[in-house]
Amino acid sequence: MTDPETSPLARIRFVLVETTHTGNIGAVARAMKNMGLRRLHLVSPRQPPDAEAMARASGADDLLAAAEVHPDLVSALAGCRRVIGSSARHRAVAWPLVEPPAAARLLLEEARHGDVALVFGRECSGLSNDELARCQYLAHIPTDPDFSSLNLAAAAQVFAYELRRVWLEQADAAPAAAPRDLAPSEALEGFFAHLDQTLLDIGFADPEQSSKLGRRLRRLFQRAEPDRTELNILRGILSAAQGRKSPGRFARAAAPAPREE
Ligand code: SAH
Repeated sequence: MTDPETSPLARIRFVLVETTHTGNIGAVARAMKNMGLRRLHLVSPRQPPDAEAMARASGADDLLAAAEVHPDLVSALAGCRRVIGSSARHRAVAWPLVEPPAAARLLLEEARHGDVALVFGRECSGLSNDELARCQYLAHIPTDPDFSSLNLAAAAQVFAYELRRVWLEQADAAPAAAPRDLAPSEALEGFFAHLDQTLLDIGFADPEQSSKLGRRLRRLFQRAEPDRTELNILRGILSAAQGRKSPGRFARAAAPAPREE
């Protein structure tokens, strides 16, 4: 059993977006509990977990009962310091791409200090580009490219197993370096909204075509993983660019002329 308070595994959320089959939700709960994971988050499931979900959970019904349901992905990611989206396909958007072992290391590294999330898409269409844009990395299980899509719960099982394997491997490792106070997901969202608005205000972004630019800038800043202080500095710069700070505010009083001896 995993100690819910202290294990990094207990800080990892599996977020399922708009799942259609409740049986899949149950099977994901089981896959998670087998590996010591317990935080299941559901974004607008087609139906709430039902008898079919309970049957497929087969003993992991406590995870189902505790599952948090959210109206959208943003609220499911609130407080998360690192977010990875899983995808059955390679995407046109060039996002940093990792395989399950690297995804597990990235999540566990940050889960020592706070909450993190792995996001799973819909059975029929996966995750949208906007949803992927909320993730810092994209994780792909290297399946046969001609038949690349796993069942949702099978994909969750692969990631859950990798997380447990890497966690066991790291259990005896030396303590990590001092934690950085990474900005949580909602703070980054606030920054991106401010950035988009500023780029329009200062006439840099074309209102008709700003979403592509927005995605590229998201990728840049998410790669940098800013901490809270850095994000505050960036927001201060945006406010200055918007003219909300007075340009003369650092003017020093003129120094007195040196006296002739
Ligand atoms: N038809 C969808 C596949 C959805 S499968 C598509 O083409 O995108 C449901 C979810 O399971 C995916 O959104 C993803 O989160 C996960 N998944 C399935 N196969 C995967 C793979 N090979 N690698 C990573 N995640 C996968």
